Amino acid sequence: MVKLDGKVAIVTGGSRGIGASISKELAANGVKVVINFNTSSEAAEQVVRDIESAGGTAFASQADVSDIAQSRVLVEDAINKYGRIDILVNNAGITRDRTFRKLSPEDWKQVIDVNLSSLYNMTSASLSHILESDAGRIINISSIIGQAGGYGQTNYAAAKAGIIGFTKSLALELAKTGVTVNAICPGFIETDMVAAVPEEIRQQIIAKIPVKRFGKPEEIARGVVYLCQDGAFITGHELSINGGMHM
Ligand code: NAD
Repeated sequence: MVKLDGKVAIVTGGSRGIGASISKELAANGVKVVINFNTSSEAAEQVVRDIESAGGTAFASQADVSDIAQSRVLVEDAINKYGRIDILVNNAGITRDRTFRKLSPEDWKQVIDVNLSSLYNMTSASLSHILESDAGRIINISSIIGQAGGYGQTNYAAAKAGIIGFTKSLALELAKTGVTVNAICPGFIETDMVAAVPEEIRQQIIAKIPVKRFGKPEEIARGVVYLCQDGAFITGHELSINGGMHM
């Protein structure tokens, strides 16, 4: 088992939801966490305070990870502060759900840029540092929608399926170096993204989940910690955490 104490992680979109939970769970295991946010600085600072009051180490860093220059600055910020990067969690994501015939070029581009191009931006900016780690980990948050498709989600499904292809290809390229690359595919998890869904539709979704409930952000976070601690022989994997909704 890898000792995570003293390792350094960047979590993109770490200010709320799944990213905040991943940041807290990593910090609880001794990881120094760079909590990236784009617009919600108060929420990111609150996550930092929560981590510090529990005895952990973290700081918040603003960057739009769909922009390559800002992604590079984020990585520089992490290096200036903590001197190394062991773990990159590409978690930032957005939806712009519309049926295909209503989907504008902007809806397409924004979702691809934030959910998928950010992986190129952040990985290319940080890889030379991650390669110096004795237990480098790249963990990409995909989605059940990338595995199964979703009505009104051609843009999001394409981005999330793209993450899986990216993960497997990079895993092959990096296998010899000891850096593992994995994707986590959450099902429906209780965060702001799912809270925005009308109650009637929420009940229809729960009816389709074999365990009959939404997942919790911590259930994704513990998957991340597992891949960091015990995952030296796990690479190129799609870890489904979805209550049995897609097998
Ligand atoms: P959320 O909307 O609560 O959080 C998304 C985070 O990404 C926020 O912190 C936001 O500030 C950040 N972000 C958005 N655009 C950004 C940008 N350009 N640069 C930097 N940060 C940016 O969503 P969540 O539910 O916590 O989702 C986290 C990840 O999990 C996303 O990739 C999402 O697609 C994925 N996911 C969520 C669910 C779910 O049911 N909630 C299911 C499957 C996959």
